[in-house]
Amino acid sequence: MIDNDVDLLIAGSGGGGLATALFASSFGLKVMICEKSRYVGGTTAISGGSAWAIATVQEEQAGLQDSIETGRRYLDAMGEGHGSGEMQDAFLEAAPAAFAFLQHQTDVTFTAPRIHPDYYPHLPGTTTGGRNLGPDTLDGRRLGSLINLVRPPRPEFTGPFGMAVARSEISDLVRPWRSIRAFRLATRAVLGHAWALLFHRRAMRLLMGNALIGRLLLSLAARGVTPALETSVARLWVENGQIAGAVLRTKTGEKHVRARQGVVLATGGFAANADMRQSMLGSLQTDHFVTFEGAAGDGIVLARAVGAGLAGGSASAGLWMPASILRRQGKRDITFPHLRDRAKPGLIAVGSDGRRFVNEANSYHDVCLAMFRSKKHGETVEAHLICDHAFIREFGLGLIRPFWSRLRPFIASGYLAKGRTLAELARKIGVDPEGLQATVARHNADAVSGTDTEFAKGGSALNRLNGDERFKPNPCLAPIGKAPFYAVRVVPALLATARGLATDTEARVLDQNRRPIKGLYAVGNDMASVFDGHYPGPGATIGPAIAFAWRAACHAAKRDVATDRAAQNGIVRETEHHGL
Ligand SMILES: Cc1cc2nc3c(=O)[nH]c(=O)nc-3n(C[C@H](O)[C@H](O)[C@H](O)COP(=O)(O)OP(=O)(O)OC[C@H]3O[C@@H](n4cnc5c(N)ncnc54)[C@H](O)[C@@H]3O)c2cc1C
Repeated sequence: MIDNDVDLLIAGSGGGGLATALFASSFGLKVMICEKSRYVGGTTAISGGSAWAIATVQEEQAGLQDSIETGRRYLDAMGEGHGSGEMQDAFLEAAPAAFAFLQHQTDVTFTAPRIHPDYYPHLPGTTTGGRNLGPDTLDGRRLGSLINLVRPPRPEFTGPFGMAVARSEISDLVRPWRSIRAFRLATRAVLGHAWALLFHRRAMRLLMGNALIGRLLLSLAARGVTPALETSVARLWVENGQIAGAVLRTKTGEKHVRARQGVVLATGGFAANADMRQSMLGSLQTDHFVTFEGAAGDGIVLARAVGAGLAGGSASAGLWMPASILRRQGKRDITFPHLRDRAKPGLIAVGSDGRRFVNEANSYHDVCLAMFRSKKHGETVEAHLICDHAFIREFGLGLIRPFWSRLRPFIASGYLAKGRTLAELARKIGVDPEGLQATVARHNADAVSGTDTEFAKGGSALNRLNGDERFKPNPCLAPIGKAPFYAVRVVPALLATARGLATDTEARVLDQNRRPIKGLYAVGNDMASVFDGHYPGPGATIGPAIAFAWRAACHAAKRDVATDRAAQNGIVRETEHHGL
C-alpha cells in the first residue's frame, strides 16, 4: 500500500538535503524530506556553515573579481592532474547559478568575505578572498516555532549561557574595555542574549551552520515544505529496474512513499560509523570524528543494497581536523576541533620526538595529513600543542577559553598537561625532553627574527589571517617564554568523509559498471567528494553539496543547469531538459 506519493523524496535534512528540496520545490516538484533524528540540520547545523564556490554573484556584490577559468586553474594545480575533471567542471558550472538563485530567489543569502584566502595560496588561480561564502546571520524570531526544529549548536562552540558568538566578535567580547566599539558590541550582544533567554528561553541569533539551516528551513516553509522528523529512509524500493520510492521507518511504523522522479540520498556520509571507517578510510585510520553522531553511513548502505559503486578519496578518504578530547566521568567525551588556536603566535605542535612536523597555521586538513605522514608504522597518530601561560590567557587553547577559564579542572581531567619547565612538561606527556627544549629554543629565536626557518609559519596570507596582527614582525610567531608551560594532545578527527557514492555530473548514483541507477541521486557527503580528498578552501564540502543539490534538482525537474546571466539572476529557463 502506498502511503504517500511525491516527485522527489529526500533522505536527510542537512545542507545537501534541504538545498535539494528547496531547489526542487522552487521548480514546482512535490518534495518530501525525511529526517532520521529529532532535529533538522545534521552536521551542517553545527558547522561553520560556509560554502566554497567560485565566480558567484556574492563575490561580485563584494566587489571581487573571480572567474570559472581562474577557479579551474586553481583546482587543476591542486589536484596535480589527478582531479576528477568532469565532476569539477560540473561544480564550476553549477555553483554560480545555484548561489545566484539562493541569493535572489530565497532567504538563503550569503556574504563573500573580502579577505579569506584559499587553502593553497601559493597555487595559480588562487584568490585572497571571496570564495568562502558565509551565510548571513538570521534573527531566529523570523522562524517562529520552526526554530525549535533546528539542531542547536554544540555548547562548547557557544559563549556563556549558550550565547552565539561570531569568530570576528571573540576578541571584542573577551576584552570589552579595549575600545568603545568593543564595549558597544559586547553590551549589545550580552543584553540581546539575556533578552532572548528571558522571552524565548534560547539564543535567537542564528550564526554559521545554524543560520544556513535556519534560512533553508525558512525558505522551504515559504514553499509549504517542512521536514518529517524522526522518519528515516530504511529501504529503497525498486520497480522495473529503477528506484520508485522508499520504505520509511517512522514512530508509527513503516510507510511506503512513491517518488516519481527519484530518491535523493543526503544522509551525511559515514564519519560516525566505526565499521565503515575501517573498511573505507584505507591507510588513514581514526577512531575520532567531529561530525554529529548521526553520520552513520545510511545513504551509502541503502545505495550499496541496490548495486551502487563507490568513488573518490584518492588523495584522502577522509577530510580532517586536529581535535583534542576531554574525557568526562559518566558523560560523553567532548571531541573539540582546533580551528584557529594553531595559527596564533606562541604555539607549536610537536610529535613524540619533541620536534615540529608541520606549519601549524596551515589548513586543518593539511595539518592532520602531516600528522599521519610523520608517524612510523604502528605509532599512535597524535601530536601535542605546546604553549606558555601567557598564550592560554590571551588566546585560550581548545576547550579552554581565553582570559577566564579555570585551568585546574582541565589539568585534573587530563585534558591539559602543565610543567614548571619544558623538560617536566615533556616527561608528563611522553615526549623527548631534549627534543622539545631544542625545538622551543629554535622556535623562540625565529620568533624574534620573524621568520620560521623550519616551516614558514606566518608565511602565507592564510596563516596571517588566523594569526594576531598585534604581534610583530610575524603575526603567527611569538616566543614560548615564561613558565609554566602547557600541552594539549590532538589527534586527527574526521570533519567529513570524501569517499562516497560514485555519481555522474547530475548527481545520479552510478552502479558498479558506472551506469546511472535510474531514480537515485546522492548529494553532500553521501556523494564522493568532487575534490577527491583534497581541501581547496574553507567551505569545501557545503559548496559542492549546494552545487550538486542544484544539479540533482535541475535533472529531476528536467531543467537546464543554466549558467547564463538569466540564471545568475535566478530566472531559470523552463524549456530545456536533460531527460532521465
Ligand atoms: C565543527 C565543524 C565545522 C565545519 N565547518 C564547515 C564549513 O564551514 N564549511 C564546510 O563546507 N564544511 C564544514 N564542515 C563539514 C560540513 O559540516 C559537512 O561536511 C556537511 O555539512 C555535511 O552536509 P550533509 O548534507 O552531507 O550532511 P548533514 O548535514 O550531516 O545532514 C545529514 C542528515 O541526514 C540525516 N540522516 C541520516 N540517516 C538518515 C536516514 N536513513 N534517513 C533520513 N535521514 C537520515 C541525519 O540525521 C542528518 O540530519 C564542518 C564540520 C564540522 C564538524
